[in-house]
Amino acid sequence: MTMISAAQTAIKQGLGGIIFTDHYDVDPPKGIVAFDFDPAEQQREIENIKYSFGNFEILKGIEVGIQLKSLAKINRFLDRFSFDTIIASAHFVEGMDPYFGDYYKNRDWREAYGFYLKSIYDCIVQFDNFDVIGHFDYIARYAPYNVRSIKYADFPEIFESIFRLLKERGKALEINTNTYRDKYGKAPELDIEILKRFKKSGGEFVSLSSDAHETGRIGENFGKYTAIIKEAGFDHVTHYKERKPVLTKI
Ligand SMILES: [Zn+2]
Repeated sequence: MTMISAAQTAIKQGLGGIIFTDHYDVDPPKGIVAFDFDPAEQQREIENIKYSFGNFEILKGIEVGIQLKSLAKINRFLDRFSFDTIIASAHFVEGMDPYFGDYYKNRDWREAYGFYLKSIYDCIVQFDNFDVIGHFDYIARYAPYNVRSIKYADFPEIFESIFRLLKERGKALEINTNTYRDKYGKAPELDIEILKRFKKSGGEFVSLSSDAHETGRIGENFGKYTAIIKEAGFDHVTHYKERKPVLTKI
């Protein structure tokens, strides 16, 4: 999609703005292509089109794939540009891509999901150059287990460790509606208990994202998940502008 078509679709969806968060994934596992893009080109294009959209806001973002071995490289890259929003997401774990089957070999669901959550925690202990933790339950989209959803009750310690860091540093937990689409048979469900516990542990910021990749999915299911976020006790959703939280009442 073009930025213009994405922005036009977001307006039709009743959204007040859009953040383009192109992927930056370095050091991919063997046989997997790295995702790279030129932020200068992205930002130039945003500057070119934003004036024709009036009050509708178009922001510059990036989704960086975090891995322990790549953190220094990621920091060097991020230092060269300024973004409104940086999403930190785990796409590769232990040199493997959970999109493919190898990651799940000789692992039961508890091990596979737990290890994924722990890899997020291990990275953010060392890495602070982000605003939002992307799709914490991404792995459940592709996992081959009957247990389809990542639940708070199964991993309370690691969730609390992640919440503590997010709370201390004023960062957001992302609810990514792409995870819950029924495209792989039995889709994972969002465990509302995760949001409730995040709130209870002092978490303030929840970010809502459709991870759209195509115009047809922009803002997908935002109504449904806004209601869930509200039910969990939050009275706003958060996005970041110039790396600072901006709250939208829900
Ligand atoms: Zn992602």
